[in-house]
Amino acid sequence: MITILNDDFSQLNTFLHEKSFSKIFILVDENTHEYCLPVLLGNMETDLGFEILEIEAGEEMKNIQTANQLWEILTEMQADRKALVINLGGGVITDMGGFISSTYKRGVQFINIPTTLLSMCDASIGGKTGIDLMNYKNMVGTFAFPEQIFIYPKFLETLPFKELRSGFAEMLKHGLIADKAHWESLIQIHKLDAETIVPHIQTSMDIKQHVVEKDFHEKDIRKTLNFGHTIGHSVESLCLSQGNPILHGEAVAMGMICEAHLAYLEGLITQQDAETIVENLQRYYPYLDISDFTDESITALLLNDKKNTNSKINFSLLSGIGSCTYDHQCSQENILKSLAFYRK
Ligand code: NAD
Ligand code: ZN
Repeated sequence: MITILNDDFSQLNTFLHEKSFSKIFILVDENTHEYCLPVLLGNMETDLGFEILEIEAGEEMKNIQTANQLWEILTEMQADRKALVINLGGGVITDMGGFISSTYKRGVQFINIPTTLLSMCDASIGGKTGIDLMNYKNMVGTFAFPEQIFIYPKFLETLPFKELRSGFAEMLKHGLIADKAHWESLIQIHKLDAETIVPHIQTSMDIKQHVVEKDFHEKDIRKTLNFGHTIGHSVESLCLSQGNPILHGEAVAMGMICEAHLAYLEGLITQQDAETIVENLQRYYPYLDISDFTDESITALLLNDKKNTNSKINFSLLSGIGSCTYDHQCSQENILKSLAFYRK
């Protein structure tokens, strides 16, 4: 369940009172420690003891070493199966916190309090947790639902612009795959900031939630959420492996540009729709220089995508603005053409 918090966090306090947890562990990174934890602690009313678990900020931390350290700390602090983990942060924290919680002692309860736009509209919803492995994104993980998701939109006020823009890519994706009116209202926004974006968050969360409820295990419609992510993830992984990480939403925006063009090449959408999508994405997102990456290196990663079956690359491609297909296998020629289109 997703709850938008009042200024006094009363719904969170009710939740904490109603459940009988043994202890609370709050997972933060250095930034959410500084900007968000004081707000949470200032409003949280509980007699339970709590411990702060802090990791360094960044995708580079979303790995097995960090997970191992956190499992060890939970063990040293004698966390039992009635412990509650509160994940206070962006997608790295909700992915990592969900992963360690769902595996520690075969699972302790956790809640997500997302603090980035990306985690509010996307990462904290849907029950996917995970860590990266050998530069492959989210290779190891679990399906596990948080007990609750609490959204406090004011956390966005301290979020750097680039992070806000990164999360906005997932909102645009939600519009493109499922709700043309949402896409159209988002592209009316000229200046991206917390004030202009917050009114649209609920629609994006609802789209993600709705899709996940219909297909939790990603057998069909949930695959549409992967639009922009097939090529996007490959480029994100390549950048990460070169020690030059880019933001997830930046990679997804790039991926959506390529995959919108690919949908046109595959005859799924009109040239006009493809151009509208590309032009609008380019308004928000700067060009990513992918000249260092060969077609072969990108294709090799595409072939390792989790969505693939029988060694065939499965794409989730738009069938219009507001609708999306999945398990679409494209010709190699068109995939390379879509990358060449972006490079131009
Ligand atoms: P992030 O967690 O790294 O947060 C981005 C940056 O913002 C970090 O430096 C963080 O410290 C800082 N920050 C967070 N909240 C802040 C605040 N309120 N004020 C100031 N700074 C703040 O990244 P993200 O973009 O939120 O999430 C990306 C991750 O989410 C990726 O690892 C991606 O794979 C994952 N993801 C998961 C899912 C899923 O379904 N599980 C979906 C989408 C993305
Ligand atoms: Zn994403």
